[in-house]
Amino acid sequence: MSSSVETLEFQAETRQLLRLVIHSIYSNKDIFLRELISNASDALDKLRLESLTDSGIGQVDTTDLQISLEVDKDARTLTVRDNGIGMSRDDLVELIGTIAKSGTAGLMEKIKQSKDAATAESLIGQFGVGFYSAFMVADKVTLHTRRAGTDTDTGTRWESDGEGAYTVQAVDGLPVGTSVTLHLKPADSEDDLADYLSESKIRQIVKQYSDFIRWPIRMVTERAEADGSASPGADTLNSMKALWARPRAEVTQDEYNEFYKQISHDWLDPAETVHMRAEGTFEYEALLFIPSQAPFDLFSRETKRGVQLYVKRVFIMDDCEALMPNYLRFVKGVVDAHDLSLNISREILQQDRQIRGVRRRLVKKVLGAIKKMQTDDGERYTKLWTQFGRVLKEGLLEDTDNTEALLELVSAASTHDPDKTTTLREYVERMKDGQEAIYYLTGENRATVENSPHMEAFAAKGYEVLILTDPVDEVWADQVPAFDGHPLRSIAKGQVDLDEPAEGDRSADQAKYEQDYAALLPWLTTALSEHVKQVRLSSRLTTSAACLVGDAHDMTPNLEKMYRAMGQELPGVKRTLELNPAHPLISALRTAHEANTDDPALAEIAEVIYGSALLAEGGELPDPARFTRLLTDRLAHTL
Ligand code: ADP
Ligand code: MG
Repeated sequence: MSSSVETLEFQAETRQLLRLVIHSIYSNKDIFLRELISNASDALDKLRLESLTDSGIGQVDTTDLQISLEVDKDARTLTVRDNGIGMSRDDLVELIGTIAKSGTAGLMEKIKQSKDAATAESLIGQFGVGFYSAFMVADKVTLHTRRAGTDTDTGTRWESDGEGAYTVQAVDGLPVGTSVTLHLKPADSEDDLADYLSESKIRQIVKQYSDFIRWPIRMVTERAEADGSASPGADTLNSMKALWARPRAEVTQDEYNEFYKQISHDWLDPAETVHMRAEGTFEYEALLFIPSQAPFDLFSRETKRGVQLYVKRVFIMDDCEALMPNYLRFVKGVVDAHDLSLNISREILQQDRQIRGVRRRLVKKVLGAIKKMQTDDGERYTKLWTQFGRVLKEGLLEDTDNTEALLELVSAASTHDPDKTTTLREYVERMKDGQEAIYYLTGENRATVENSPHMEAFAAKGYEVLILTDPVDEVWADQVPAFDGHPLRSIAKGQVDLDEPAEGDRSADQAKYEQDYAALLPWLTTALSEHVKQVRLSSRLTTSAACLVGDAHDMTPNLEKMYRAMGQELPGVKRTLELNPAHPLISALRTAHEANTDDPALAEIAEVIYGSALLAEGGELPDPARFTRLLTDRLAHTL
C-alpha cells in the first residue's frame, strides 16, 4: 500500500543553497560521499545512544549497525544505506526541507555578494552543505527512511530533483534507518565529475575521507545481491581504527607506531607520541607524533604541516596550518574536532577563535613532551634536538608566547665542554658569581668561533661562552631578551666589562693607556673611516692586536651576509676597531705615529691591522689583492 504523494516547496534559503550547490561551487565533488557517510554514521551513533536511554527503542544489537553502499550500474544509481535512527515524516520536512541553522539568510546574502567562486566556497564552508551536496553529482535523489521505535513498518519516501520542490509519501514495508539513492549525472571529466558507479573510485573516496568512521562501511556488489549471498565483513572498506578516540590506557605503543606509519608514510617509529582529549565547550581529540628523523625537505619552502583535521572521524583536510605553527611543521598527527562543519575552509579555520585555542594548547603539549624527554631521557632528547633543533629555534622568532619554553629546550655548543652541548639552564647554573649575562658568539663553525679574538678575554678570565653556528642563531640570540632573567649578550658587540682582571691590575694600566693613545686613536679613526666608525682601546684582547666589534643592536656580519645572499639590499654596517694597547705592533704603531704623523706607511699598516682583524673572526676582506700587496710590502721592509 502506498498513500498519496505530497509536493512541498523548499524553504527559500534552501532553494538558494541548492542552486549554489548544483552550480558547482565545490571543485571537489567527491566530498558528497563523505557527507552522506557522515550523516549515516551520526544516525548510527544516535540510535545507539537512544537505545541506551530511551526504552521506546528497545535493545539494539550494535554489531548489526552498518553503512552500506550499493551500486546499480543499469539504473545508474548509488545508494548509501544505514540502519540508524531514521527520520519521521516531520523530521524529514524539517531537517531536509529547511535549513534550521541560524544566520542562514545573512550568509546567503554574503555569498550572493561575493565576487568569486573561491570566496563563495569559503563562505559556504563555514556553513556546510551536508545532505545537499548529493545534488552535485545526482540530478535526482530518492530517500527512504523509517524512524526507529515506531510501531508499524510505515516510513517515508522523499524525492527531489533539487530544483524548487520535493515530494513526500508514506510507504509501508521499510526497514528502520535511511537509504539515500543518487540518480547519478553522467561522468564528466571536464566538470570534475568522476564515475561514481566505479567500485574502485568509491573505495578510494571512502579510504581517503571516511577510513576512521567507526561503523563498518560495506560495499554491496551486484553479484552478491543477485545470489543473495551478501557476506558482511568481507567488503568492509574502512579500517575503523580511530585510534585517537580510544582511551590512552587502552592503546599500546605498537598500535600508536603502526598508526603513525600509516599517516606519515615514515618507516621508523616516532620519537614521541602525544595523545590528548579536551572536553568542555569545544571537544576534540588529538593524537600527535614527533618523528625520530627529520624529513629531507624540512627546510624547503613547500614543506607542509603534518597535522590532519577530522570532524567526528571524518577526514577534512591534510596539512592543517591552523593547528600547528610553522616551526612545528615536523609534527604529524590527527586532530578530531567535534563541533565544526565538515566543509570548514582553511581561511575560516585560521580565524576561528576556538581553533586558535586548540593550537595554543597543542603547541604547549608538544613543547612539554620535548621538555619531558629532555628531563627523563637526555640521550633521546639530544637526538631529537639534532634532528629538529634548527626548526624549533625558528619558534624563538615566530612564537613569542612560548619564548621561555623554547629557550628551555635550546641546546648549544659551549666553551665549557668541547664534546657536549649545554642547555641554557645548565649554563646559568655554572655562571660565575656576579655574572649577569649569558655570553655567546656566533660564527660559521666551532673552530672559527673558538679562535676568534673576541674570545680571548673570556677564555683568560674563565667565562663560559656559547658557540652558536646555526644561521638562525644569529637572529634569535639577538632578538630574545633574556633567559631566566639573564640577558643574552654577544661578545662581539658593545664594550666588554669583565670585572675581574686577568693578570695584574689592568684598570690602572687602562687609564695610562688611554693617555698614551690619545693622539693615535682619532688619527686612526680618520684613516680607516671608510671601514670602521671608530677606533678605540680594547679590554677583550689578550694576545691579538685588534678585533672588530659591533654596537649592541648592530647586525652581525654573518647576518648581513645571509640577508645579502637572500637578495636584500642593506646599508653596510660599520663596526668599531678595538686595539690591544699591550700588543707590540700596536705600541710600535703609536711610537711611529708620534715620530712622524705624515709617514704614508702608517695608513697602510692601519689597513693591514683592520684586514687581519677581519680575517681572524672568519670574515671576508673587501679587497684581498690589495691586502696581500700591503702585507707583502710591509714584510719585505722588515727583511
Ligand atoms: P548536518 O549533518 O550538518 O546536520 P546535513 O545537511 O548533512 O547537515 O543533514 C541535515 C540533517 O538531516 C541531519 O542533521 C540529520 O538530522 C538529518 N539526516 C541526514 N541524513 C540522515 C540519515 N542518514 N539518518 C538520519 N538523519 C539524517
Ligand atoms: Mg551532515
